[in-house]
Amino acid sequence: MKQYVPAAQSKAEKAIVIGAGIAGLLTARVLSDFYGEVLIIERDEFSLKPSNRLGTPQAFHPHRMLPRGSMILERYFPDYIEDLLNLGAFPTMKEKMLIVNEFASFKASSPVKNAACSRALLEYVLRQRVDQIPKVRFSSNLEVTGLQASSDQTRIIGVFTRDCSDQKQEGASTADLVVDTTGSSSKATQWLESLGFVVPEPERLHVSLGYSTRYYKIPQQLEENWTSIISEAQPSKCVSTAMLLRFENNIAGTLLFSAGGEHYPSTDPEQYQAEINHLPDSRMAEIVKQLEPVQSPRGYRTPESVRQHFEKMENWPSGLLVLGDAFCCFDPIHGQGMTVAAIEAETLGGCLEEERSNPQPHFERRVLKRMQEAIEPAWWLSSVADLRWKGVEHVYSEPMKGVVFAQKYLDLYMKQTMKLATTENNLSLYSEQFMMNALIISPREIFNSNVLTLILEDSRSLEAQQLLAELGETDPHKFQTRIDAIIPSFAHIFD
Ligand SMILES: Cc1cc2nc3c(=O)[nH]c(=O)nc-3n(C[C@H](O)[C@H](O)[C@H](O)COP(=O)(O)OP(=O)(O)OC[C@H]3O[C@@H](n4cnc5c(N)ncnc54)[C@H](O)[C@@H]3O)c2cc1C
Repeated sequence: MKQYVPAAQSKAEKAIVIGAGIAGLLTARVLSDFYGEVLIIERDEFSLKPSNRLGTPQAFHPHRMLPRGSMILERYFPDYIEDLLNLGAFPTMKEKMLIVNEFASFKASSPVKNAACSRALLEYVLRQRVDQIPKVRFSSNLEVTGLQASSDQTRIIGVFTRDCSDQKQEGASTADLVVDTTGSSSKATQWLESLGFVVPEPERLHVSLGYSTRYYKIPQQLEENWTSIISEAQPSKCVSTAMLLRFENNIAGTLLFSAGGEHYPSTDPEQYQAEINHLPDSRMAEIVKQLEPVQSPRGYRTPESVRQHFEKMENWPSGLLVLGDAFCCFDPIHGQGMTVAAIEAETLGGCLEEERSNPQPHFERRVLKRMQEAIEPAWWLSSVADLRWKGVEHVYSEPMKGVVFAQKYLDLYMKQTMKLATTENNLSLYSEQFMMNALIISPREIFNSNVLTLILEDSRSLEAQQLLAELGETDPHKFQTRIDAIIPSFAHIFD
């Protein structure tokens, strides 16, 4: 009979983390509390100062950490925000934010302490911190080319590697746990298939999204009175999302985003500026005209977001986990990827803690299931938003729950939010939605009968009637039962 070996107890000598992106660094930090040795294998070479790398082409584009992600980072890397600020990051508590959408516009300020900076600076600070952990070692310039399995194929026992230098020397490294954090280019599926595993079809959002980003130097006269701007998309009118954000060392960035594939934001400097000039609200164009461009706009396009369902594999091998974009990559405009990676890493830490005191079989599959629960709210929220764009399609064996109802609900919610914000300076509804999008509270805190009753206040409006029709219920006493049937439960993850 096969002997069950608890993951975190007797065999917790060495772990390998593949990839030193945000997910890899966080995973290594978490594993260092449980494993005697953690080896991070990264195909890129690291530079001695913050800079973008070939292996993370997305890092050129603005990256913001949501408050939930920031809270988790602060737990594992205390005072990391201070490190960022000391290296020139912009304190978000000082940031005035103009929110513009199809209903109105209003000013808000960030309710939480955070540091606005480039992805390169964030990764640099986290890498420095991880490098200080004695149990963790980096092996850069080394590419993982496959997984080593036990002879009965039930356990992953290490990885095969190839040196990225001219020699291309091949090698192998063994470990008790291998975690794939190689991002959206992960080869986990191919590696598993080459070992004979059948990997289930992933869930796909055919999103055909386009980003265009440009950076500028902020002139002195604008530094003190800086206002960042988020201008929300109006998919039905093909109006792009536009953002004006601030980063370290007095650099600002603009980004334009659209989905559905009908129109991609331009990367031609003049055309790009023209698109900013034609935004429904002119304030962004007015500020941008005063900034000094430091380069031409650069684009990023991707056809789909992919959510793997490895947790469905009953024969998932022990000794292997997948985390970060390699497990699920999101439409980046919602700024969720790094935060979900942080939630997954924290989830892994919780599972290892439980396993230490109460070892149970199928540890890895249980972790994957728990991480999948962590992914669910972010995936659902971003899909509900993206499916408003013509041409965006969800492709999976099971339909996504409650999309049309949620879209109509959020429209009405936003209308009420803007009414309260602009007429009474009351940001309570805005704050709740901010907390939901920041993945701090469950979508169920917004989607419930109390909030529904509130936003139906003017129940004769056309939007309210359409929402009630979608709900299929007009009796307020039965609202909650219907909502429970329509909206996913998002169980456990916000407990
Ligand atoms: C345009 C854009 C904008 C984004 N903006 C935001 C944002 O504002 N906020 C946010 O939270 N998220 C954002 N994201 C998502 C974010 O980049 C990722 O979710 C996050 O970085 C987690 O990624 P990761 O660590 O899983 O993978 P990555 O960051 O892609 O890192 C993977 C690492 O693995 C290495 N690697 C790959 N293959 C191998 C191999 N075979 N062997 C060894 N090493 C390997 C790579 O070199 C790389 O270092 C954005 C993404 C894009 C595309």
